[in-house]
Amino acid sequence: MQFEAVIGLEVHAQLKTKSKIFCGCSTAFGAAPNTHVCPVCLGMPGVLPVLNKKVVEYTMRMALATNCNIANHSRFARKNYFYPDLPKGYQISQYELPIATAGYIDIEVGASGKRIGITRIHMEEDAGKLIHDSRRPVSMVDFNRTGVPLMEIVSEPDMRSPQEASAYLRKLRAIIRWLDIGDGNMEEGSFRCDANVSIRPRGSKELGTRTEIKNMNSFRHVEHALLYEIERQKEVLAEGGHVIQETRLWNPDTGRTAAMRGKEEAHDYRYFPDPDLLPLVIDDQWIALVKSQLPELPDQRKARFMAQYGLPEYDAGILTSSRQLAEYFEQCLAKHSKAKQVSNWIMGPLLGLLNSQDKTIEQSPVSAEALAALLDLIQKGTISGKIAKTVFEEMAASGKTATQVVKEKGLEQVSDSDAIGRTVDQVLAAHPDEVERYRQGQVKLLGFFVGQVMKATAGKANPKTVNEILRQKLAS
Ligand code: ADP
Ligand code: MG
Ligand code: ZN
Repeated sequence: MQFEAVIGLEVHAQLKTKSKIFCGCSTAFGAAPNTHVCPVCLGMPGVLPVLNKKVVEYTMRMALATNCNIANHSRFARKNYFYPDLPKGYQISQYELPIATAGYIDIEVGASGKRIGITRIHMEEDAGKLIHDSRRPVSMVDFNRTGVPLMEIVSEPDMRSPQEASAYLRKLRAIIRWLDIGDGNMEEGSFRCDANVSIRPRGSKELGTRTEIKNMNSFRHVEHALLYEIERQKEVLAEGGHVIQETRLWNPDTGRTAAMRGKEEAHDYRYFPDPDLLPLVIDDQWIALVKSQLPELPDQRKARFMAQYGLPEYDAGILTSSRQLAEYFEQCLAKHSKAKQVSNWIMGPLLGLLNSQDKTIEQSPVSAEALAALLDLIQKGTISGKIAKTVFEEMAASGKTATQVVKEKGLEQVSDSDAIGRTVDQVLAAHPDEVERYRQGQVKLLGFFVGQVMKATAGKANPKTVNEILRQKLAS
């Protein structure tokens, strides 16, 4: 039987507000354990949480950017369970009335696009962090993270392959970064994903029994874990068994998932509305205000780059993969108007360089203005496109401008016909056999002569002039 996979993802993204969601403690990462704590986030009796307005605003931004409806009335609930990293004995979250529902984002996999539904987005608080001592039988707990704001984004079971799941995650992260509301760093845990997956006979409309996979801290892990889990479920069915609904942990060392807890052990969280917090009321005016302050979003910007600058979809997609890169492109374009040329140089030499040095565009050693000035030199014919690559590398290494590098290294393109003519004469004199063969009809040898002249001039001769002069002299 042919099976298809069905995948739905739950993503937890930390919001980068200055203070925690229900108290004034700092959210800064990396402080000494238990220094960013207060009676509220430590869950002392008798204290009252107060909602951080920025958390709501950031979540509204995400909701609008993912085409969700924002609820005018939503509510916080208590999710009750015991764990040492949860001092109150419950987590404040949103449950039956979340802030946002019924959105979507568009993803691309290969050459085709697909719309993935977003069921809901809600706000909640993070728990603390347990630190296990490998040498002693003790665990310690750091409550600095307790109360750090999280936004949970739940997708519809709309994805059909690990590649689609990964594309969806990348798109979500790109939007979060674009909106400047979170870091989206999977390795550091500011962007976490639980993956729900089931399989069903191809063509079936019903959902199969799912498992939920946890503990993946990179996009690669998510893809590998899903691949493994889909195969595992297929084998279970092939052997006449049933998939059991359970939570499974991904083990990156073995490349497998293993059962963690089954449905019977699933928590009963006894959710109920948190009596310490007022219902959250968001009026249409506030929604309109947040909407008006949204930046141009990645999809919109991509469409504009194609329409306004005539860029291919591929280029526009890459240039809008981050807001900083899109900005760099337009800054460059403000000084050098050939859009496709700018795009080629960013996608090729610049991104290649940044990749090799593991740098982001903000850390680029060549500014947008400096790159534009280099492209101007090519356009004016001062240097050839080929020499420009060398100039670019030197600019990146030394921080000098294109003009400086060209001057210091004497890289100006030679277009002077007399000078080129003298070199051509030397080359022809040095290769009498080739000249003879050319004149007898082997015109392909022109390329050989061009190559020799370029070599003799260290690549500085204007190739167009070289061609013209060679043709003339070889004809006579
Ligand atoms: P829970 O909160 O118990 O994990 P939800 O119903 O909220 O359960 O679903 C969580 C995620 O699981 C959602 O992203 C949803 O799309 C996905 N999901 C639900 N049923 C299935 C299924 N049969 N196969 C794959 N994914 C599923
Ligand atoms: Mg779940
Ligand atoms: Zn606090």
